[in-house]
Amino acid sequence: MRTKIYFDHSATTPVDPEVLKAMMPYLKDKFGNASSAHSFGQEAMKGVDSAREAIANFLGCEPKELIFTSGATESDNIVIQGVIKATKEKFPERKLHIITSAIEHPAILEPCREMEKAGVLVTYLPVTEKGLVRVGDVEKAITDDTVSISIMYVNNEVGTIQPIAEIGGIVKAVKDGRQKAGNKLPLIFHTDAVQAVNYCNCQVNELGIDLMSISGHKIYGPKGIGALYVRGGTLIKSIQLGGHQERGIRAGTLNTIGIIGLGKAVELVNRKQSSSAELRRIKELRDKLVEGVLKTIPESQVNGDLEKRVPSNTHFSFLNAEGESILLMLDLEGIAVSTGSACASGSLAPSHVLLAMGVPKEVAHGSLRVTLGRFTKEKDIYKFLKILPPIIKKLREMSPIK
Ligand SMILES: *Cc1c(COP(=O)(O)O)cnc(C)c1O
Repeated sequence: MRTKIYFDHSATTPVDPEVLKAMMPYLKDKFGNASSAHSFGQEAMKGVDSAREAIANFLGCEPKELIFTSGATESDNIVIQGVIKATKEKFPERKLHIITSAIEHPAILEPCREMEKAGVLVTYLPVTEKGLVRVGDVEKAITDDTVSISIMYVNNEVGTIQPIAEIGGIVKAVKDGRQKAGNKLPLIFHTDAVQAVNYCNCQVNELGIDLMSISGHKIYGPKGIGALYVRGGTLIKSIQLGGHQERGIRAGTLNTIGIIGLGKAVELVNRKQSSSAELRRIKELRDKLVEGVLKTIPESQVNGDLEKRVPSNTHFSFLNAEGESILLMLDLEGIAVSTGSACASGSLAPSHVLLAMGVPKEVAHGSLRVTLGRFTKEKDIYKFLKILPPIIKKLREMSPIK
Protein backbone atom coordinates (compact mmCIF):
# COMPACT_ATOMS: atom_id res chain seq x y z
CA MET A 1 0.00 0.00 0.00
CA ARG A 2 1.17 3.49 -0.77
CA THR A 3 1.84 5.49 2.37
CA LYS A 4 -0.04 8.74 2.54
CA ILE A 5 1.53 12.08 3.43
CA TYR A 6 -0.26 14.38 5.86
CA PHE A 7 0.59 18.07 5.37
CA ASP A 8 -2.43 19.60 7.09
CA HIS A 9 -1.36 19.87 10.73
CA SER A 10 -3.01 23.27 11.19
CA ALA A 11 -6.41 21.64 10.54
CA THR A 12 -5.79 18.84 13.02
CA THR A 13 -2.99 16.58 14.21
CA PRO A 14 -2.84 12.81 14.71
CA VAL A 15 -3.12 11.67 18.32
CA ASP A 16 0.35 10.93 19.70
CA PRO A 17 0.64 7.25 20.77
CA GLU A 18 1.65 8.36 24.27
CA VAL A 19 -1.54 10.44 24.52
CA LEU A 20 -3.65 7.47 23.47
CA LYS A 21 -1.94 5.28 26.05
CA ALA A 22 -2.61 7.79 28.84
CA MET A 23 -6.29 8.01 27.86
CA MET A 24 -7.04 4.27 27.65
CA PRO A 25 -7.62 3.54 31.37
CA TYR A 26 -10.20 6.36 31.46
CA LEU A 27 -12.08 4.77 28.57
CA LYS A 28 -12.23 1.53 30.57
CA ASP A 29 -12.04 1.13 34.35
CA LYS A 30 -11.55 4.75 35.41
CA PHE A 31 -14.95 5.83 34.11
CA GLY A 32 -16.16 7.74 37.19
CA ASN A 33 -17.72 11.20 37.14
CA ALA A 34 -15.03 13.52 38.50
CA SER A 35 -17.70 15.36 40.51
CA SER A 36 -18.78 12.21 42.41
CA ALA A 37 -17.70 11.87 46.04
CA HIS A 38 -17.02 8.12 45.99
CA SER A 39 -13.81 6.36 45.01
CA PHE A 40 -14.74 6.18 41.29
CA GLY A 41 -15.17 9.94 41.25
CA GLN A 42 -12.01 10.52 43.25
CA GLU A 43 -10.00 8.39 40.85
CA ALA A 44 -11.28 10.40 37.88
CA MET A 45 -10.66 13.71 39.66
CA LYS A 46 -7.12 12.63 40.49
CA GLY A 47 -6.42 12.27 36.75
CA VAL A 48 -8.08 15.62 36.02
CA ASP A 49 -6.02 17.30 38.74
CA SER A 50 -2.71 16.07 37.38
CA ALA A 51 -3.67 17.10 33.83
CA ARG A 52 -4.61 20.54 35.16
CA GLU A 53 -1.27 20.77 36.88
CA ALA A 54 0.68 19.82 33.75
CA ILE A 55 -1.11 22.51 31.72
CA ALA A 56 -0.76 25.11 34.49
CA ASN A 57 2.95 24.36 34.58
CA PHE A 58 3.19 24.95 30.81
CA LEU A 59 1.29 28.26 31.00
CA GLY A 60 2.93 29.40 34.24
CA CYS A 61 -0.41 29.84 36.00
CA GLU A 62 -2.30 28.40 38.97
CA PRO A 63 -4.13 25.10 38.25
CA LYS A 64 -7.39 26.70 39.44
CA GLU A 65 -7.09 29.35 36.73
CA LEU A 66 -7.78 26.71 34.04
CA ILE A 67 -11.28 25.95 32.73
CA PHE A 68 -11.78 22.84 30.61
CA THR A 69 -14.07 23.29 27.60
CA SER A 70 -15.14 21.30 24.53
CA GLY A 71 -12.49 23.01 22.39
CA ALA A 72 -11.17 26.38 21.37
CA THR A 73 -14.43 27.35 19.66
CA GLU A 74 -16.16 27.15 23.02
CA SER A 75 -13.26 28.86 24.82
CA ASP A 76 -13.37 31.75 22.32
CA ASN A 77 -17.16 32.03 22.67
CA ILE A 78 -16.93 32.17 26.47
CA VAL A 79 -14.33 34.94 26.12
CA ILE A 80 -16.25 37.17 23.71
CA GLN A 81 -19.75 36.58 25.09
CA GLY A 82 -18.99 35.82 28.73
CA VAL A 83 -16.94 38.98 29.32
CA ILE A 84 -19.64 41.18 27.76
CA LYS A 85 -22.37 39.40 29.73
CA ALA A 86 -20.60 39.91 33.07
CA THR A 87 -19.58 43.50 32.27
CA LYS A 88 -23.09 44.48 31.18
CA GLU A 89 -24.49 43.18 34.48
CA LYS A 90 -21.93 45.06 36.54
CA PHE A 91 -21.88 48.27 34.47
CA PRO A 92 -25.38 48.46 32.91
CA GLU A 93 -25.00 52.16 32.11
CA ARG A 94 -21.81 51.88 30.13
CA LYS A 95 -21.08 51.63 26.45
CA LEU A 96 -18.86 48.63 25.71
CA HIS A 97 -16.14 48.21 23.10
CA ILE A 98 -14.22 45.14 21.88
CA ILE A 99 -10.99 45.22 19.86
CA THR A 100 -10.00 42.28 17.67
CA SER A 101 -8.30 41.76 14.30
CA ALA A 102 -9.57 41.09 10.80
CA ILE A 103 -7.63 37.81 10.61
CA GLU A 104 -9.08 36.01 13.64
CA HIS A 105 -10.61 32.54 13.50
CA PRO A 106 -14.42 32.49 12.92
CA ALA A 107 -14.75 31.32 16.57
CA ILE A 108 -13.85 34.93 17.49
CA LEU A 109 -15.26 36.83 14.50
CA GLU A 110 -18.76 35.31 14.61
CA PRO A 111 -19.40 35.95 18.33
CA CYS A 112 -18.07 39.50 17.79
CA ARG A 113 -20.66 40.07 15.03
CA GLU A 114 -23.33 38.77 17.42
CA MET A 115 -22.16 41.24 20.08
CA GLU A 116 -22.44 44.06 17.54
CA LYS A 117 -26.11 43.14 17.05
CA ALA A 118 -26.49 43.52 20.83
CA GLY A 119 -25.13 47.08 20.70
CA VAL A 120 -21.45 46.48 21.47
CA LEU A 121 -18.97 48.43 19.36
CA VAL A 122 -16.35 46.17 17.74
CA THR A 123 -13.12 47.32 16.07
CA TYR A 124 -11.62 44.85 13.59
CA LEU A 125 -7.98 45.92 13.25
CA PRO A 126 -6.38 45.67 9.80
CA VAL A 127 -3.09 43.80 9.28
CA THR A 128 0.04 44.51 7.24
CA GLU A 129 0.48 42.84 3.85
CA LYS A 130 2.66 40.31 5.69
CA GLY A 131 -0.26 39.33 7.92
CA LEU A 132 0.78 41.09 11.13
CA VAL A 133 -1.24 43.25 13.51
CA ARG A 134 0.50 46.59 14.22
CA VAL A 135 1.03 47.23 17.92
CA GLY A 136 0.45 50.95 17.35
CA ASP A 137 -2.99 50.21 15.87
CA VAL A 138 -4.01 48.36 19.04
CA GLU A 139 -2.83 51.26 21.19
CA LYS A 140 -4.72 53.82 19.10
CA ALA A 141 -7.93 51.77 19.12
CA ILE A 142 -8.21 51.56 22.93
CA THR A 143 -10.82 53.92 24.38
CA ASP A 144 -12.28 54.42 27.88
CA ASP A 145 -15.07 52.01 26.84
CA THR A 146 -12.80 49.15 25.70
CA VAL A 147 -13.49 46.08 27.80
CA SER A 148 -11.73 43.31 25.90
CA ILE A 149 -8.96 42.90 23.36
CA SER A 150 -8.68 39.60 21.53
CA ILE A 151 -5.72 39.08 19.20
CA MET A 152 -4.71 35.58 18.06
CA TYR A 153 -1.17 34.44 18.88
CA VAL A 154 -0.53 32.57 15.60
CA ASN A 155 -2.72 32.84 12.52
CA ASN A 156 -4.11 29.48 11.42
CA GLU A 157 -3.82 30.17 7.69
CA VAL A 158 -0.49 31.94 7.12
CA GLY A 159 1.19 31.00 10.41
CA THR A 160 2.25 34.54 11.34
CA ILE A 161 3.18 35.17 14.98
CA GLN A 162 1.49 38.28 16.37
CA PRO A 163 3.25 40.67 18.80
CA ILE A 164 1.37 39.39 21.86
CA ALA A 165 3.92 40.35 24.56
CA GLU A 166 4.15 43.92 23.19
CA ILE A 167 0.37 44.27 23.19
CA GLY A 168 0.32 42.80 26.71
CA GLY A 169 2.69 45.58 27.82
CA ILE A 170 0.44 48.26 26.35
CA VAL A 171 -2.66 46.77 27.97
CA LYS A 172 -0.93 46.79 31.34
CA ALA A 173 -0.03 50.47 30.99
CA VAL A 174 -3.62 51.35 30.05
CA LYS A 175 -4.92 49.36 33.03
CA ASP A 176 -2.64 51.31 35.37
CA GLY A 177 -3.79 54.58 33.82
CA ARG A 178 -7.44 53.64 34.25
CA GLN A 179 -6.93 52.89 37.89
CA LYS A 180 -5.42 56.34 38.46
CA ALA A 181 -8.23 58.01 36.47
CA GLY A 182 -10.91 56.15 38.41
CA ASN A 183 -12.29 54.30 35.36
CA LYS A 184 -13.58 51.06 36.89
CA LEU A 185 -14.22 49.25 33.58
CA PRO A 186 -12.00 46.18 33.29
CA LEU A 187 -9.64 45.82 30.33
CA ILE A 188 -9.17 42.15 29.52
CA PHE A 189 -6.53 40.83 27.11
CA HIS A 190 -7.26 37.49 25.42
CA THR A 191 -5.27 35.50 22.92
CA ASP A 192 -6.40 32.49 20.88
CA ALA A 193 -3.19 30.48 21.24
CA VAL A 194 -4.42 27.31 19.49
CA GLN A 195 -1.74 27.42 16.78
CA ALA A 196 0.97 28.75 19.10
CA VAL A 197 1.16 26.04 21.77
CA ASN A 198 3.40 23.75 19.71
CA TYR A 199 6.00 26.41 18.95
CA CYS A 200 5.77 29.58 21.06
CA ASN A 201 6.32 30.72 24.63
CA CYS A 202 2.90 30.47 26.29
CA GLN A 203 3.79 31.73 29.77
CA VAL A 204 0.79 33.95 30.49
CA ASN A 205 2.55 36.29 32.90
CA GLU A 206 5.45 36.94 30.55
CA LEU A 207 2.93 37.74 27.82
CA GLY A 208 0.61 39.84 29.98
CA ILE A 209 -2.40 37.69 29.11
CA ASP A 210 -5.67 37.53 31.09
CA LEU A 211 -7.41 34.85 28.99
CA MET A 212 -5.97 32.22 26.65
CA SER A 213 -7.71 29.59 24.48
CA ILE A 214 -6.09 26.29 23.60
CA SER A 215 -7.32 23.14 21.83
CA GLY A 216 -6.38 19.45 22.17
CA HIS A 217 -6.53 18.31 18.57
CA LYS A 218 -4.04 20.90 17.25
CA ILE A 219 -1.33 19.61 19.60
CA TYR A 220 -1.49 15.81 19.05
CA GLY A 221 -4.32 15.36 21.56
CA PRO A 222 -7.94 14.31 21.00
CA LYS A 223 -10.75 16.35 19.42
CA GLY A 224 -13.53 17.88 21.50
CA ILE A 225 -11.37 19.09 24.37
CA GLY A 226 -9.92 22.51 25.01
CA ALA A 227 -9.09 24.84 27.83
CA LEU A 228 -9.42 28.46 28.73
CA TYR A 229 -6.95 30.15 31.03
CA VAL A 230 -8.81 32.70 33.16
CA ARG A 231 -6.61 34.95 35.30
CA GLY A 232 -7.91 35.06 38.88
CA GLY A 233 -10.29 37.99 39.40
CA THR A 234 -11.21 38.40 35.71
CA LEU A 235 -14.80 39.61 35.18
CA ILE A 236 -16.38 36.81 33.12
CA LYS A 237 -19.55 34.68 33.24
CA SER A 238 -20.68 31.30 32.02
CA ILE A 239 -22.64 31.41 28.77
CA GLN A 240 -24.05 27.92 29.34
CA LEU A 241 -26.24 27.27 32.36
CA GLY A 242 -26.14 24.11 34.45
CA GLY A 243 -23.90 22.69 37.15
CA HIS A 244 -21.22 24.61 39.00
CA GLN A 245 -18.20 22.88 37.50
CA GLU A 246 -15.08 24.83 36.62
CA ARG A 247 -15.58 27.81 38.98
CA GLY A 248 -19.08 28.27 37.57
CA ILE A 249 -17.63 29.42 34.25
CA ARG A 250 -18.32 26.19 32.36
CA ALA A 251 -21.25 23.99 33.35
CA GLY A 252 -21.21 20.32 32.38
CA THR A 253 -19.67 17.00 33.44
CA LEU A 254 -15.91 17.08 32.99
CA ASN A 255 -14.69 15.27 29.87
CA THR A 256 -12.24 13.16 31.84
CA ILE A 257 -10.90 11.23 28.84
CA GLY A 258 -10.31 14.39 26.84
CA ILE A 259 -8.77 16.20 29.80
CA ILE A 260 -6.29 13.37 30.40
CA GLY A 261 -5.43 13.49 26.67
CA LEU A 262 -4.99 17.27 26.68
CA GLY A 263 -2.81 17.12 29.78
CA LYS A 264 -0.55 14.49 28.22
CA ALA A 265 -0.43 16.37 24.90
CA VAL A 266 0.72 19.56 26.64
CA GLU A 267 3.26 17.59 28.67
CA LEU A 268 4.67 16.14 25.42
CA VAL A 269 4.91 19.59 23.82
CA ASN A 270 6.77 20.71 26.90
CA ARG A 271 9.11 17.73 26.70
CA LYS A 272 9.72 17.15 22.97
CA GLN A 273 8.22 19.72 20.70
CA SER A 274 9.46 22.88 22.33
CA SER A 275 13.06 21.60 22.30
CA SER A 276 15.14 23.71 19.96
CA ALA A 277 16.27 20.54 18.10
CA GLU A 278 12.70 19.64 17.12
CA LEU A 279 11.87 23.24 16.16
CA ARG A 280 15.00 23.35 14.00
CA ARG A 281 14.16 20.00 12.40
CA ILE A 282 10.69 21.15 11.33
CA LYS A 283 11.97 24.54 10.18
CA GLU A 284 14.67 22.93 8.03
CA LEU A 285 12.13 20.65 6.37
CA ARG A 286 9.76 23.58 5.77
CA ASP A 287 12.55 25.77 4.34
CA LYS A 288 13.63 22.94 2.03
CA LEU A 289 10.05 22.60 0.80
CA VAL A 290 9.65 26.35 0.21
CA GLU A 291 12.96 26.64 -1.60
CA GLY A 292 12.11 23.68 -3.83
CA VAL A 293 8.68 25.03 -4.75
CA LEU A 294 9.84 28.57 -5.53
CA LYS A 295 12.75 27.23 -7.60
CA THR A 296 10.77 24.78 -9.71
CA ILE A 297 7.40 26.53 -10.13
CA PRO A 298 7.32 29.89 -11.91
CA GLU A 299 4.85 32.57 -10.79
CA SER A 300 4.66 31.17 -7.28
CA GLN A 301 4.91 33.13 -4.04
CA VAL A 302 4.81 32.62 -0.27
CA ASN A 303 2.16 34.61 1.63
CA GLY A 304 2.80 36.03 5.08
CA ASP A 305 5.90 37.17 6.93
CA LEU A 306 8.85 34.81 6.42
CA GLU A 307 10.47 35.39 9.82
CA LYS A 308 7.61 36.00 12.26
CA ARG A 309 6.06 32.66 11.46
CA VAL A 310 5.78 29.22 13.08
CA PRO A 311 8.27 26.67 11.63
CA SER A 312 5.54 24.26 10.51
CA ASN A 313 3.64 26.59 8.19
CA THR A 314 4.02 27.60 4.61
CA HIS A 315 1.37 29.17 2.43
CA PHE A 316 1.74 29.51 -1.35
CA SER A 317 -0.11 31.23 -4.17
CA PHE A 318 0.23 29.95 -7.74
CA LEU A 319 -1.01 32.25 -10.47
CA ASN A 320 -3.56 30.68 -12.86
CA ALA A 321 -3.89 27.45 -10.90
CA GLU A 322 -6.93 27.02 -8.71
CA GLY A 323 -6.30 26.01 -5.08
CA GLU A 324 -9.17 23.52 -4.86
CA SER A 325 -7.98 21.75 -8.01
CA ILE A 326 -4.41 21.51 -6.71
CA LEU A 327 -5.74 20.07 -3.44
CA LEU A 328 -7.81 17.40 -5.23
CA MET A 329 -4.98 16.38 -7.55
CA LEU A 330 -2.53 16.12 -4.64
CA ASP A 331 -5.10 14.06 -2.75
CA LEU A 332 -5.22 11.59 -5.64
CA GLU A 333 -1.48 11.17 -5.08
CA GLY A 334 -2.01 10.57 -1.35
CA ILE A 335 -0.87 14.01 -0.17
CA ALA A 336 -3.19 15.99 2.11
CA VAL A 337 -2.94 19.81 2.11
CA SER A 338 -5.41 22.66 2.52
CA THR A 339 -6.46 25.65 0.46
CA GLY A 340 -6.70 27.86 3.50
CA SER A 341 -8.40 26.89 6.70
CA ALA A 342 -10.48 23.72 7.06
CA CYS A 343 -13.38 25.88 8.23
CA ALA A 344 -13.36 27.98 5.07
CA SER A 345 -12.99 25.14 2.60
CA GLY A 346 -16.20 24.02 1.03
CA SER A 347 -16.89 27.64 0.25
CA LEU A 348 -15.10 29.05 -2.75
CA ALA A 349 -15.01 32.57 -1.30
CA PRO A 350 -11.40 33.79 -0.98
CA SER A 351 -10.01 33.63 2.55
CA HIS A 352 -10.75 36.65 4.79
CA VAL A 353 -7.16 36.45 6.00
CA LEU A 354 -5.63 36.83 2.53
CA LEU A 355 -8.10 39.59 1.64
CA ALA A 356 -7.15 41.45 4.84
CA MET A 357 -3.51 41.16 3.77
CA GLY A 358 -4.41 42.79 0.47
CA VAL A 359 -3.75 39.69 -1.65
CA PRO A 360 -5.71 40.18 -4.90
CA LYS A 361 -8.65 37.79 -5.36
CA GLU A 362 -7.16 36.07 -8.40
CA VAL A 363 -3.95 35.37 -6.47
CA ALA A 364 -5.87 34.24 -3.37
CA HIS A 365 -7.76 31.68 -5.45
CA GLY A 366 -4.52 29.86 -6.25
CA SER A 367 -3.58 29.36 -2.60
CA LEU A 368 -2.26 26.31 -0.83
CA ARG A 369 -1.50 25.89 2.87
CA VAL A 370 1.09 23.22 3.65
CA THR A 371 1.65 22.51 7.35
CA LEU A 372 4.22 20.01 8.64
CA GLY A 373 4.33 18.28 12.01
CA ARG A 374 5.92 15.99 14.55
CA PHE A 375 5.86 12.91 12.32
CA THR A 376 6.90 14.57 9.01
CA LYS A 377 9.94 12.93 7.38
CA GLU A 378 12.47 14.34 4.95
CA LYS A 379 11.36 11.88 2.26
CA ASP A 380 7.83 13.38 2.45
CA ILE A 381 9.29 16.72 1.37
CA TYR A 382 11.10 15.17 -1.62
CA LYS A 383 7.96 13.34 -2.72
CA PHE A 384 5.92 16.54 -2.52
CA LEU A 385 8.54 18.43 -4.54
CA LYS A 386 8.41 15.74 -7.21
CA ILE A 387 4.63 15.62 -7.47
CA LEU A 388 3.56 19.27 -7.21
CA PRO A 389 5.29 20.94 -10.21
CA PRO A 390 3.68 18.73 -12.91
CA ILE A 391 0.26 19.25 -11.26
CA ILE A 392 0.60 23.03 -11.43
CA LYS A 393 1.86 22.79 -15.00
CA LYS A 394 -1.09 20.66 -16.06
CA LEU A 395 -3.63 22.94 -14.35
CA ARG A 396 -2.11 25.99 -15.99
CA GLU A 397 -2.31 24.37 -19.40
CA MET A 398 -6.01 23.73 -18.77
CA SER A 399 -6.64 27.22 -17.37
CA PRO A 400 -8.81 29.49 -19.53
CA ILE A 401 -6.97 32.59 -18.29
CA LYS A 402 -3.48 32.97 -19.75
C1 LIG B 1 -8.78 25.11 15.15
C2 LIG B 1 -8.84 26.49 15.70
C3 LIG B 1 -9.89 26.90 16.53
C4 LIG B 1 -11.05 25.99 16.85
O1 LIG B 1 -10.66 25.00 17.76
P1 LIG B 1 -11.61 23.73 18.02
O2 LIG B 1 -10.99 23.07 19.22
O3 LIG B 1 -11.55 22.91 16.79
O4 LIG B 1 -12.98 24.25 18.32
C5 LIG B 1 -9.87 28.18 17.02
N1 LIG B 1 -8.86 29.03 16.72
C6 LIG B 1 -7.84 28.68 15.92
C7 LIG B 1 -6.76 29.65 15.64
C8 LIG B 1 -7.80 27.40 15.38
O5 LIG B 1 -6.78 27.06 14.59
